[in-house]
Amino acid sequence: MTAATAFDPIALGTEIQRRLGVKTSRDEPLARFTTMRVGGPADLFAVAHNAFELRALVKFVRTRGIPHVVLGRGSDVVIADAGVRGVVIQVRAEGTEVRDDRLIAEAGVPMARAATVTQGAGLSGLEFGLAIPGSVGGAVWANAGAHESDVKAILEGAMVMTADGTEVRQDPEALELGYRDSRLKHRVSPDAVPEIVVSATFRLTSATPDEIRERLDDIRHWRQAHQPLGIPSAGSYFRNPLDDSAGRLIDAAGLKGTRLGGASVSEKHANFLINDRKGTAADVRGLGELVRTEVARRYGVQLEPEVVFIGDWGTDDRWVQTTEPEAVR
Ligand SMILES: Cc1cc2nc3c(=O)[nH]c(=O)nc-3n(C[C@H](O)[C@H](O)[C@H](O)COP(=O)(O)OP(=O)(O)OC[C@H]3O[C@@H](n4cnc5c(N)ncnc54)[C@H](O)[C@@H]3O)c2cc1C
Repeated sequence: MTAATAFDPIALGTEIQRRLGVKTSRDEPLARFTTMRVGGPADLFAVAHNAFELRALVKFVRTRGIPHVVLGRGSDVVIADAGVRGVVIQVRAEGTEVRDDRLIAEAGVPMARAATVTQGAGLSGLEFGLAIPGSVGGAVWANAGAHESDVKAILEGAMVMTADGTEVRQDPEALELGYRDSRLKHRVSPDAVPEIVVSATFRLTSATPDEIRERLDDIRHWRQAHQPLGIPSAGSYFRNPLDDSAGRLIDAAGLKGTRLGGASVSEKHANFLINDRKGTAADVRGLGELVRTEVARRYGVQLEPEVVFIGDWGTDDRWVQTTEPEAVR
């Protein structure tokens, strides 16, 4: 654990450029790095183009006690309008290697690309990645899944930079992968150093190109029919409660189409909160709260967000990253 240290973004950016050769930008607006298209600026923003840069950047900020957060494809986050106080590292390490029946993918590889790379290699198991507009690192963090599979079903192990700076291989059990959940999601305190996935190894099975293509086509068609694609969102906003579906409850509560500012509940999929591109993070989160309150009032079910709230939400902990709605009120 480290205490959040105040820092001078200009001096830090210059030092990162000089020592690591990585360009940084100050007050970088983050909305465009997220699929929800909301979020204010990062004090300092850097892109890790490969695993070496990722390790170096993380070590650099950690040894100086500077708050930091990694971003994959920003498809499961709502970033505060006030932005992020600290350093945001976008993971764009995108190397892949197929070795026998395994895919080794760096954390920044888009899951959809992992699906097509393995298709090309005649390997089956990662087709569901086509439905997930996130990165391999974000998918491990979330134990992302779709179409009756998830990361846990195919993950052999992930290389994780732990809080003490070592890099260890962790299997699904050590990562505590469960329904849209992993140990990485639960930091012991907001001050704790985030653990970071550097790469992952997926174990797959052989299949014919036609079989894989058929599965990919099914997934593509299902998504087109059921999800509001092409409109800013973070996918399913709430986790499904036990033995029920958040979308069903929201729909039954008559909340489809409910609007707050530029955010609304999708007419196509009630668990998708969408942004008409003029919406703010406050609109999105406020709408989420409205939906939670109404579903709790009608059905006594407390919906919990699947998305994570990142940044300065005006609470005491300005570095907050949490999925607990109470913690960001
Ligand atoms: C249209 C749409 C459809 C979706 N459908 C699905 C679906 O079917 N199934 C599903 O499970 N999800 C779905 N999602 C949600 C999302 O795509 C997944 O949760 C995805 O795994 C998030 O990955 P990301 O790279 O975008 O993570 P980000 O949103 O960038 O980050 C999410 C969290 O992961 C952390 N993180 C990111 N990279 C790393 C890393 N390398 N190491 C450690 N932590 C990291 C971040 O710090 C943050 O806390 C959907 C989203 C959208 C927009």
